[in-house]
Amino acid sequence: MKYYSTNHKAADATLELAVVNGLAEDRGLYMPYQIKKLPQEFFDEIDKMSFVDIAYQVASAFFGEDVDGDALYDIVRDTLRFDCPINKVEEDIYALELFHGPTLAFKDVGARFMARLLQYFINQHNNEGLVNVLVATSGDTGSAVANGFLGVDGIHVYVLYPKGKVSKIQESQFTTLGKNITAVEVDGVFDDCQTLVKSAFMDKELNEHMKLTSANSINVARFLPQAFYYFYAYAQLKKIGKEKDFVICVPSGNFGNICAALFGHQMGLPVKRFIAANNANDIFYNYLQTGKYEPKASVQTIANAMDVGDPSNFARIYELYKGDHKVITSLISGATYTNEQIAETMQQCYQAIGYILDPHGACGYRALKEQLQPGEHAVFAETAHPAKFKETVESIIGAEVAIPERLAEFMKGEKQSVECSKNFEDFKAFLMNEK
Ligand SMILES: *Cc1c(COP(=O)(O)O)cnc(C)c1O
Repeated sequence: MKYYSTNHKAADATLELAVVNGLAEDRGLYMPYQIKKLPQEFFDEIDKMSFVDIAYQVASAFFGEDVDGDALYDIVRDTLRFDCPINKVEEDIYALELFHGPTLAFKDVGARFMARLLQYFINQHNNEGLVNVLVATSGDTGSAVANGFLGVDGIHVYVLYPKGKVSKIQESQFTTLGKNITAVEVDGVFDDCQTLVKSAFMDKELNEHMKLTSANSINVARFLPQAFYYFYAYAQLKKIGKEKDFVICVPSGNFGNICAALFGHQMGLPVKRFIAANNANDIFYNYLQTGKYEPKASVQTIANAMDVGDPSNFARIYELYKGDHKVITSLISGATYTNEQIAETMQQCYQAIGYILDPHGACGYRALKEQLQPGEHAVFAETAHPAKFKETVESIIGAEVAIPERLAEFMKGEKQSVECSKNFEDFKAFLMNEK
């Protein structure tokens, strides 16, 4: 499969190049030339299939031309070593729990899939030399990427994070791993980390010294595998006879997750409509109302993984529907919530049924409560385990949130990190000294 850039200036790329480059040379996002439809028999039988088998069919449609079938099956099986169950929150509304992966983040799937796909391409060429992944994080992405790439031969990961600005739980998820993961503690803020990574990609001498690649959410190997979730959600609803007039609601920040669901729809997944739920960062919501896309500086909220002022995957959604605002608004509606509304929703849901929402999932749940029509059946993506936002959630619901065993294990490990200033010359000197 060939991939083109959403800016239409860069040369086409193979899957391998698209994965290794991340972003196209014209700074556009890679899009596949074709999105294959899955056959009707697949949807007829989907409720009898396992998560792995469903995901393999989806993965084959995306990547089957470029990756050997057995290897792809292996990658899928290795990526999905956990379940993503649905949980009924009220009549016809189900939480699709995407937080049962190693770091309790939905990003675990894309991170692991990308790690294994990159390894597949490295092995294919018997590639000499290490590939180095640089990732800047404000918390969640770093832990998912570090754990996804942990122990994968031929790849070393450098996680750059702002010193003292990441929660203890998050920090422990990427600083205690060792092996092929190096945590770089930057004396600065998240933006400084991102600037260091960008500067590293542009530095000629550094790129001659070592092979560098990025693992952020614009990478096709990171966002596309998230489509697996939505096929499986449909299968689970079909199993209980609730698949008619299927609505998918995704709490969105950079819009990678909902974009994967939209790709699923293009492949034939029977979805009636989508809802993109936002916190106070309402850029997409405004686009739906006005037809104008106007990025602005992000504002901080209690659903901080969605604090994005210029959602990178907007370009893909725009491209998917040829920029037709009518088509987009007929398929996708929006919602935007303040911190107070998010907190109120978490409180009400906990009091009514004892279900603990995290602040991100709460946006999704509220949008469905307000917008679901009679006869529709819906899932909202519950994107994080509430324990990841322990203090916030506890102060809102007034009850304790137990920390899952897996998170507690990370916190027992010993922190290892390399300290670095926000000065690029320091970071470069550090990397030049690495093998
Ligand atoms: C990353 C993240 C989101 C936003 O997902 P996008 O794909 O960027 O839209 C929402 N919730 C949580 C908990 C996240 O970690």
